[in-house]
Amino acid sequence: MSHQSFFASVERNFDKAAQHTGLPQGLLEQIKVCNAVYQIKFPVKIGDEYHVIEAYRVQHSHHRLPTKGGIRYALSVNQDEVMALAALMTYKCAIVDVPFGGAKGGVKINPRAYSEFELEKITRRYTTELIRKNFIGPGIDVPAPDYGTGAREMAWIVDTYQTFKHGDIDSAGCVTGKPVSQNGIRGRAEATGRGVFYGLREVCSFKEDMAKVGLEPGIEGKTMVIQGLGNVGYHTARISINEGGVKLIGVAEYEGAIVKEDGIDIEALMTHRRETGSILDFPGAKNLPKREDALELECDILVPAALENQIHAGNASRIKAKIIGEAANGPVTADAEDTLLKKGIIIVPDMYINAGGVTVSYFEWLKNLSHMRFGRMEKRFNANTYENLVSTVERLTGKVIGPKERSVLTRGADEIDLVNSGLEETMIEAYRQIRDVYISYDKITDLRTAAFVSALNKISSDYMALGIFP
Ligand code: GLU
Repeated sequence: MSHQSFFASVERNFDKAAQHTGLPQGLLEQIKVCNAVYQIKFPVKIGDEYHVIEAYRVQHSHHRLPTKGGIRYALSVNQDEVMALAALMTYKCAIVDVPFGGAKGGVKINPRAYSEFELEKITRRYTTELIRKNFIGPGIDVPAPDYGTGAREMAWIVDTYQTFKHGDIDSAGCVTGKPVSQNGIRGRAEATGRGVFYGLREVCSFKEDMAKVGLEPGIEGKTMVIQGLGNVGYHTARISINEGGVKLIGVAEYEGAIVKEDGIDIEALMTHRRETGSILDFPGAKNLPKREDALELECDILVPAALENQIHAGNASRIKAKIIGEAANGPVTADAEDTLLKKGIIIVPDMYINAGGVTVSYFEWLKNLSHMRFGRMEKRFNANTYENLVSTVERLTGKVIGPKERSVLTRGADEIDLVNSGLEETMIEAYRQIRDVYISYDKITDLRTAAFVSALNKISSDYMALGIFP
């Protein structure tokens, strides 16, 4: 395992890209640094004892407000990690044209070591600390789920915020990833995984790019290995199989790894894990000696969907995938990247491929500010218009359209349809922008550098518009 600083790794990738932009050094420096780092230590009474909890919120860039990014609950949380993740949020938002600065939060706990009641206490106290320092609010800084947190934690956060900010009409927009019943949005839970699928499908659609790694264009039939069956990994697998015709041949989780060349039924595997507590001994699959072995399997697409630093100088040379889709943040260290690129592997960078989560968070925030569900105004109107159109076609042609086909043709879009199509469009458009940079800059030979340059061009023009850097 490599012990390279995660933030240093992000900075190194930034510097590699910055040289292609021709932007003034001072401006690049301002974009690169973390604007605000808030470290907190607070006591929480657990049983008869007091636990002192270490936590962070980092706002990397204020060029657009609010700042945005998840909150992570893990024992591995430290300042360097939260700074790196906050920085990645800035570039991620720019790449998918989500008008936020980057931020990230972290609470250094093992969430599995606490009861639900205790987690609620910790979450509410953390939120109170953020309110106290003005580090949360719909126009200030808007957290979301990340590793170790989910809709439940977001519900506690919004409730705590509203207790303090009674009467703030936009208070629901202080956090995203909330349960749908608490002002959340449909499709947010699966958004990151769905975005990973849309992104990979787009990457695989370019014949000449696929030819370079010896693959046919199109995602259908491609083999995939996934590390991590959490929210991101599970939905990536499910949607890639069901909507893309991908064959999932390997999975790694905390307890080990399995391989099954003829394809893994993801729902059956999830049931098996729920019942036995492990993915191991899944019928028809082979257990691998070590969980890390899954990363080294022969496959078309490798999707690390767990934590950072998984592919490092120690194992990079043994990676056999043709494409790596960084569903997690920072799974490939800067050292490993050099080795992988030399091997000709296509690395689809985190700041693009996992941006579906923040994209749908943006939709949720807009929904909260507009105080209305998407589709409410136009769904019925559109359905009626399509009805009239179909009836007119029937009248003019003298033919009758069957009821099933008719209901498909005349459906007005609901919230989930709009969220998914907004996400699909975002992922396609962002990839085309990155690929344009990749193709038009002679000296850029990898997608991460191209993604950084695409982000830097947008962020720098925001700064120029602010008049700070004329
Ligand atoms: N934690 C997610 C990420 O790393 C989502 C952030 C958000 O929705 O604000 O992108």
